Amino acid sequence: MTLNLETKELMEKAVKFHGHACPGVAIGVLVSKFILEHGNDFSLDEEIVAVVENDNCSIDAVQALLGTTFGKGNLIHLDYGKNNFTFYNRNNKKSVKLSLKNISFGSRDLPREERIQKLLDAKPEDIFNIEEVKFDPPQLAQIHESILCENCGDPTMSTRIKEFKGKKVCVPCYEKLM
Ligand SMILES: [Zn+2]
Ligand SMILES: [Zn+2]
Repeated sequence: MTLNLETKELMEKAVKFHGHACPGVAIGVLVSKFILEHGNDFSLDEEIVAVVENDNCSIDAVQALLGTTFGKGNLIHLDYGKNNFTFYNRNNKKSVKLSLKNISFGSRDLPREERIQKLLDAKPEDIFNIEEVKFDPPQLAQIHESILCENCGDPTMSTRIKEFKGKKVCVPCYEKLM
């Protein structure tokens, strides 16, 4: 597989998936570009796991460009509200963390298009602190059997079932009944 790493093309692909161009997607493009450029360490297969610390626009770029997706279980969201992105390669046990630097990418008064362009002109190294981290990937999601919620009847993954007054119920029902 030959990868074209032209930032412009990566951006176009990400925007197509995400629905609009925005600084968040541009950040995700740069994250992805770094991983793609280090293809020896991080080939794009099921063995790469992304751990992201936000659920903003940037994650769509990561999903579109790196193929780490919620559906495959190799995209893990930690709800920390930070622009940090960690990648683990289960094959060669490499891991790397990109953390957005605390620098401004042009004042908020700049037109959005210009801010996006400024970001895309940067190298990943310019805007991220990039460091090797300990290889300690989270477990991939497993398929668990479903059982029926005793309140609404929806088949629900057994690990998500809660107990309410002796009944096995799903999370939304539990929250309603509380
Ligand atoms: Zn967006
Ligand atoms: Zn229910």
